[in-house]
Amino acid sequence: AKADGRGLLRQFEPRMEHEVRQRRDTETDLQRALKDNELTLFYQPQFAADGRTVIGFEALLRWIHPSRGLVSPAEFVPIAEQSGLITELDLWAVRRACEQSVDWGAARMAVNLSPVDFRMRDLVGAIRRILDETGFPAERLEIEITENLLLGNQPEAFASLTALRAMGVRVALDDFGSGYSSLGYLRRFRVDTIKIDRSFIQNIGQTDDAAAIIDCVVRLARALAITVTAEGVETREQLRYLQSVGCHHVQGYLLASPMPPSSLSRYIEQVKHT
Ligand code: C2E
Ligand code: CA
Ligand code: CA
Ligand code: CA
Repeated sequence: AKADGRGLLRQFEPRMEHEVRQRRDTETDLQRALKDNELTLFYQPQFAADGRTVIGFEALLRWIHPSRGLVSPAEFVPIAEQSGLITELDLWAVRRACEQSVDWGAARMAVNLSPVDFRMRDLVGAIRRILDETGFPAERLEIEITENLLLGNQPEAFASLTALRAMGVRVALDDFGSGYSSLGYLRRFRVDTIKIDRSFIQNIGQTDDAAAIIDCVVRLARALAITVTAEGVETREQLRYLQSVGCHHVQGYLLASPMPPSSLSRYIEQVKHT
């Protein structure tokens, strides 16, 4: 048995070393990417329940790597979170999104923040400075957080969120329903928006449970005066169901995919005139 164990270890070690090395390489590469302007933001329009009226945008990080091409945030965000580099990336994203929003006129802009960002000493001050320097109104900025942040129950995180809300920044709870006790967090911390996780939306018409849960979440949110956004809307059937239960906002490939700013002009014109 002993020999077997060692054999197993010997098999695993090279693979682990390989992964550690790869992660370190990606990290170094990311640091360079930030300096070399390889990072960019794509924007996905968010619509009123009619599926036509644009109410704002979500900024999503993209890494256009010189040899690897487009690298997904699903790949590099977790690595950047481990090293803490994510905070630099996220603050860069907030600044860039605010700058571009100012150029475009009146749009609401949602930006994703990692739970790691809330360990920064003065996150609130950093965001306030970005708003001051770009001239983007706090009321038009929405930060998207996940319940992982509230899970840690760090008093500093609650304090930062409260301070941001006091400044007028809106707070959205992303991936709602995907975690363990989403409802509990609503009691502990007041958010402006709930984004129902894509997994529920994709099960509309597939399982009765998904539809019932969405209906219930929308009612609950409405009773608490919280805005509900459905993300990952891909079919007409899903949109119709969301409309029927009174979901406020919708986002997804059916309506518009994330796109570079150069492709956004028709959406931006619309937002300016609403
Ligand atoms: P998320 O915040 O839940 O973002 C939604 C993801 O769903 C995006 O993937 C978006 O492109 C994708 N999506 C939009 N509509 C649809 C649809 O109809 N169907 C499907 N299947 N997918 C749809 P993306 O851009 O690859 O981002 C993945 C995740 O990476 C994000 O999930 C977020 O957690 C993270 N992320 C992206 N940008 C940032 C950022 O600037 N900062 C941080 N901390 N995380 C980010
Ligand atoms: Ca998000
Ligand atoms: Ca989400
Ligand atoms: Ca997510």
